[in-house]
Amino acid sequence: MNNYQHILLAADFSEHGETVAQKAHYLATKYNAKLSVIHIVDYLPITDAAYGPVIPFDLDLNEELMNTAKKRLADMAKKLSIPADRQFLEMGSTAIEIVETAEEQHADLIVVGSHGRHGLALLLGSTANGVLHHAKCDVLAVRLQGG
Ligand code: AMP
Repeated sequence: MNNYQHILLAADFSEHGETVAQKAHYLATKYNAKLSVIHIVDYLPITDAAYGPVIPFDLDLNEELMNTAKKRLADMAKKLSIPADRQFLEMGSTAIEIVETAEEQHADLIVVGSHGRHGLALLLGSTANGVLHHAKCDVLAVRLQGG
């Protein structure tokens, strides 16, 4: 069996995120693997009942969210010694973006938390569930207590 060579950490910046990040970092060190990190900004369609999506407001808000997320991602990556070219920031559906980036970057292990911001105790969170169902590589769901 080959060692993992490229690990992708899914970071949501939740209070449990540090535990997930430490596990990914530990595994990358243990396997002497590359470590990348991805964060997905939820797409925010601001919809008006009469006119559908309100585009101009949407664009500004999303840009602001992306800028803030970029800084948080860079801060986290710095602590984990992950260089800029292995920091991925996407907008869209969280599980799909994680799986697609893992494929594009040839990651062979995705590390997610069992729960994050939207999780419930004792149930697998929606992101971990989605990634487990769709990823073509191994997935580690780090067990987190509570929601
Ligand atoms: P949740 O689906 O909110 O319970 O999150 C479970 C895990 O999915 C988290 O611990 C993260 O590893 C990952 N995750 C959730 N949301 C994001 C996000 N926006 N970007 C990257 N990873 C995420």
